[in-house]
Amino acid sequence: MIEIENLKKSYGQLEVLKQISFQVERKEVVAIIGPSGSGKSTLLRSIVNLETINGGNIKIDGEYLVENGHYAKPKEIQKILSKAGMVFQHFQLFPHLTVKDNLELAPKLVKKEDASVVEKRRMELLEKVGLQDRANTYPANLSGGQKQRVAIARALMMNPEILLFDEPTSALDPELTGEVLKVMKDLAEEQMTMVVVTHEMGFAREVADRIIFMDKGEIVESGTPEEIFENPKNERTKTFLMRVQ
Ligand code: ATP
Ligand code: MG
Repeated sequence: MIEIENLKKSYGQLEVLKQISFQVERKEVVAIIGPSGSGKSTLLRSIVNLETINGGNIKIDGEYLVENGHYAKPKEIQKILSKAGMVFQHFQLFPHLTVKDNLELAPKLVKKEDASVVEKRRMELLEKVGLQDRANTYPANLSGGQKQRVAIARALMMNPEILLFDEPTSALDPELTGEVLKVMKDLAEEQMTMVVVTHEMGFAREVADRIIFMDKGEIVESGTPEEIFENPKNERTKTFLMRVQ
């Protein structure tokens, strides 16, 4: 579903991603863990074209977004990226729009879908994340957990083939993380393909099929939750896990 090969990204002299390669299969849930500054966000942002990379390949659903450092044409990029949704740490909801309009805007504006079709899907998705009674609320009047559930529903409105999450619960009070993780767990059970950057080791262990440990712009180690958490091979992985668990 996602194929990354030798991805390179630098900010000036600073090499943030050093020849990263990995794949995500359809229906797989991959958790990316690693210390602050290791390049996790940059990696996710590169996949959805929020960062310009300096080399390598990014392929989504068999189509090249970037091939040998060369980007596809804008129309092609738009088509490829319509398959990927992203959920951010700080929700990124449109503050001047109600929950309903946050969900309906892109399908209507970008996909030019029929209003009644969009409305029906919006109602289903708000129910799925337990916010059916909040359609007319503005983001400022929601809790952090509710905002993040709206952000997930909004991403799902575009019918993505894959969802990317960048620390979706890190900005939340501890008592609100559970409701967001529950929605993500439900999605995983429905076999949504997901890549989740997270500090929630419990979630990673329980829900992910595979864990990728990143440090200093490299994938140091990857494996099943059991392999990574019970029997890490690399010293850097061991040290990291000892600090966070
Ligand atoms: P965290 O766990 O704190 O979110 P991260 O693993 O997501 O960290 P990134 O945000 O991807 O790390 O950052 C990787 C490196 O790139 C860091 O050294 C960071 O300072 C640097 N960096 C990120 N964005 C920029 C930018 N726009 N300009 C310059 N350097 C940047
Ligand atoms: Mg980050």
